[in-house]
Amino acid sequence: MQVYSAPLRDMRFVLHELHDSAGHLEAIGRTDLNGELIDSILEEAAKFAQEVLLPINMSGDEEGCRYENGVVRTPRGFKEAYDMFRENGWGALSSPAEFGGQDLPEILSKMVEEMQCSANLSFGLYPGLTHGAVLAMLDHASEELKARYLPKMIDGTWSGTMNLTEAHCGTDLGLLRTRAVPQADGSYRLTGTKIFISAGEHDLTENIIHLVLARLPDAPKGVKGISLFVVPKFLPTDDGRPGQRNGVTCAGIEHKMGLKGSATCQLVFEDATGWLVGEVNKGLTGMFTMMNAERLSVGIQGLGVAETAYQSAAAYAKDRLQGRSLAGAKYPEKAADPIIVHPDVRRSLMTIRAYVEGCRALAGWVAKALDLETKATDPELRQQSEDFVALMTPVVKALFTDLSFEMSSMAVQIYGGHGYIRDHGIEQLVRDARITMIYEGANGIQALDLVGRKLPSHMGRLMRGFFHPVQQFIEDNASDPNVLPLAKAFGALQQATAHIAQAGMKDPEEAGAAATDYLRLLGLVALGYMWARTAKIANEKLPAANGDAGFYKAKLSTAQFFNDRLLPQAGALWGAIKAGKASMMALEDAAF
Ligand SMILES: Cc1cc2nc3c(=O)[nH]c(=O)nc-3n(C[C@H](O)[C@H](O)[C@H](O)COP(=O)(O)OP(=O)(O)OC[C@H]3O[C@@H](n4cnc5c(N)ncnc54)[C@H](O)[C@@H]3O)c2cc1C
Repeated sequence: MQVYSAPLRDMRFVLHELHDSAGHLEAIGRTDLNGELIDSILEEAAKFAQEVLLPINMSGDEEGCRYENGVVRTPRGFKEAYDMFRENGWGALSSPAEFGGQDLPEILSKMVEEMQCSANLSFGLYPGLTHGAVLAMLDHASEELKARYLPKMIDGTWSGTMNLTEAHCGTDLGLLRTRAVPQADGSYRLTGTKIFISAGEHDLTENIIHLVLARLPDAPKGVKGISLFVVPKFLPTDDGRPGQRNGVTCAGIEHKMGLKGSATCQLVFEDATGWLVGEVNKGLTGMFTMMNAERLSVGIQGLGVAETAYQSAAAYAKDRLQGRSLAGAKYPEKAADPIIVHPDVRRSLMTIRAYVEGCRALAGWVAKALDLETKATDPELRQQSEDFVALMTPVVKALFTDLSFEMSSMAVQIYGGHGYIRDHGIEQLVRDARITMIYEGANGIQALDLVGRKLPSHMGRLMRGFFHPVQQFIEDNASDPNVLPLAKAFGALQQATAHIAQAGMKDPEEAGAAATDYLRLLGLVALGYMWARTAKIANEKLPAANGDAGFYKAKLSTAQFFNDRLLPQAGALWGAIKAGKASMMALEDAAF
């Protein structure tokens, strides 16, 4: 069985000690909230994840979704779990109170999201996309559309989807063909076929609200001719009930590597009635609101899966008896020592732990900025926070999900053959994690976004916003030997940034060739900074920690491991970046 118990102590550390929840609540004008209230919400969320979602994770994977004549049935237990999710208001945490949400900070709701993804990633996708659709409508839909759809989406009675992909059109949205024809009453008729639509059809909610990209008949070619529409499965009646069935049907679901409890649907739109969201031909702006939110959420999905991989592998390593410690038997009374005594198994466990806790700390920093970009009273702080979220969105998406797959695979290795077979559910984590590297923009595209858009944006302003606090921390703690590895990695990042800015300006292929390594390098430095700050706090708190001393000691050991064993990869990444595109581009296409 997969092992998962919400890491509440670590979450409290990230919230209150690392990211100063008290100061944060004040900065966003939420002095009505306090740490205790936040902790009690986390505890309830933990119970829901552990007691309701986790028990249907492996069974949902075994059973998968079923498709029968346009109807999709989710695995056993999903409907009951969703009803509880809705009744307990888990979908409304950070949504605005104006439409029935609870207006709670993102720094809290992202942790709740993490728990749900740890316990059951497939389940998490149903409400997850609704939240993104809500954000896109909040920013771009007319007041009438908001009033009609948002309250029911926020309270979870209706769910949302995101419809970009078509068979011939994945990354390159300029190729999309779905048509939208304007009608005299101001609505549009949509015709086309979308594929791979998560939660496109299911039995969890009474209505499904599709956000769909399509082209008007006279639209310019490419991405400049794409508009965004809201297309409900059932057309809402004036009193807000699901009325007449709209012209959108599910033609089938995909049979896929993982995420089997999540329905991935082919949707056929035949003269389906829809309404424009935002302006004609500016649909990507609205969709990007949804995509950016989803990209961060997909990063959180990766983190969630990796946490379960860690906990499961750690429990197994303490239990599985094989061989003797190289230093002599540690448990002579047993037939063999547990595999946790072996340095190589520890290398894997420490690697997963250091990445998972580092990513949680970084996610907290980004979630804090998400709150501040809209709620800080100081306009300068709002702008800085917006810059930081924009810079970190591709990093969180790609770094966390790449690591999630690598870390779940490491967990399989710790289980040996028992991880490869299905019994323990560890191979499921690898299969589930794999998609997170692909959807919401494949990770290679995230790297291009970082290097091609975010790095040069506002003459490097976004980058400077990240460099500044890291540099300041290094200078303020120059005498601390533990900060030296961060300073070295930061130096590599600065050089790589200058190199890419220069080489990429002359030759965009140079930037493209460096992009993935650069994203990992930036991610490593961001994690290094989180670990350095964590270690500083742990050192300060340890002398008076009493019962909590074990927690801070573990933080210090893990920070040391990150510095010794993981952060030095920064030098190799800079080496690869410096080497440039030549050997990558040398072979003729035909030689492959
Ligand atoms: C389970 C699942 C759920 C999904 N859910 C949704 C959903 O809800 N809504 C939705 O609209 N879509 C959804 N998708 C689609 C998903 O977002 C796409 O698969 C993804 O965007 C990549 O598109 P593609 O598969 O067509 O790959 P392609 O675009 O063909 O890309 C293939 C590879 O080429 C690379 N590549 C492509 N173009 C470039 C370039 N210009 N430069 C460098 N590299 C490039 C990519 O990085 C990728 O590695 C889902 C897919 C799956 C499998």
